[in-house]
Amino acid sequence: MSEAESNHLNTFNQSNFAENSEFEDKSISCIDCEKDFIWTAGEQKFYSDKGLQNSPKRCKECKHAKNERISSIADAKASGVKQKIEVAVYCANCKGYTTVPFYPSQGRPVYCRSCFLEMNPNLVNNEK
Ligand SMILES: [Zn+2]
Ligand SMILES: [Zn+2]
Repeated sequence: MSEAESNHLNTFNQSNFAENSEFEDKSISCIDCEKDFIWTAGEQKFYSDKGLQNSPKRCKECKHAKNERISSIADAKASGVKQKIEVAVYCANCKGYTTVPFYPSQGRPVYCRSCFLEMNPNLVNNEK
């Protein structure tokens, strides 16, 4: 669930909880921490309104932790921080040993940083 959705869920619980009669609070055991948590009537109504078939599997803490993990992976992908890899190669130009931050595709020559920049001088200013 996205942050926007869970925010919406919180708002929903506050405003509409009292009007629900067909749902009752349910106790569910969390698949991550195995503690029981309450799936409130308001949340059940929300799920049913959204046409969601599955009951939640995680307590709020674990759901939050899971969202954190997912968003930190997404952040890392966006910023490239966690994706930093080093592959040892020999430069196709100067034959020097170097490492590149990507997996070279087969059959394509790989160049060391200085040879690469020599061949692509216009990239120098675009580097982040
Ligand atoms: Zn949990
Ligand atoms: Zn080179």
